[in-house]
Amino acid sequence: MSTTPFDHYARGHHDHDHAHDHDHDDHQQPNPANEHDNGPPGEYEIMSRAMQELLEAKGIISAEQVRKRMELFDEEFPYRGAQVVARAWVDAAFKTRLIADGRAACAEMGALLEAERLIAVENTPDVHNIIVCTLCSCYPRALLGMPPTWYKSRNYRSRVVFEPRAVLREFGTELPDNVTVRVHDSNADMRYLVVPMRPAGTEGWSEEKLAGLISRDMLVGVTVPRVPV
Ligand code: FE
Repeated sequence: MSTTPFDHYARGHHDHDHAHDHDHDDHQQPNPANEHDNGPPGEYEIMSRAMQELLEAKGIISAEQVRKRMELFDEEFPYRGAQVVARAWVDAAFKTRLIADGRAACAEMGALLEAERLIAVENTPDVHNIIVCTLCSCYPRALLGMPPTWYKSRNYRSRVVFEPRAVLREFGTELPDNVTVRVHDSNADMRYLVVPMRPAGTEGWSEEKLAGLISRDMLVGVTVPRVPV
């Protein structure tokens, strides 16, 4: 993917003071009327709309480019995380590279992360990982597309830290008591990806078939993959 003025725009506000890549103002002034709560648009959303209109008026980007970019978020990006994890399941060397440097490993598969670091955290029989952004909605968009509404909700962001097992239960995920639950807090520079355990009964499956088992929620850590009976 080449870098164009549009790419820079689409990746958001990396250059502004608190370097977040989405539209909200939770960090400085908690405001119940922002995008997360379906209120009127926040300051950054208004700024980003104004910027888009200006770039269109100057002929730097077209509404068509914006639409195509948003389609990528909706159509292609959400599947890339599953492809990365399926590759890690079948290719031990790739998994080692993914754990060592997630950003570089994803780049091998053509996924350019929007943050400086991607930390891939592996679930094991003893440890289950969950991802949150307690401040807002930092999320590995290049791998999972746009974050779901529940991920951005105050309910999830505040509760998952204090009662992760209760939150997991609401997603239908019951973990044995001996499993340690680790909650990872994302931020502008650092995104996380959960690498779930490959389910038993998938021996010999192709990478593509394995990817079909993996959903977005599993890569955030709120559910776990199972082989359909
Ligand atoms: Fe955030």
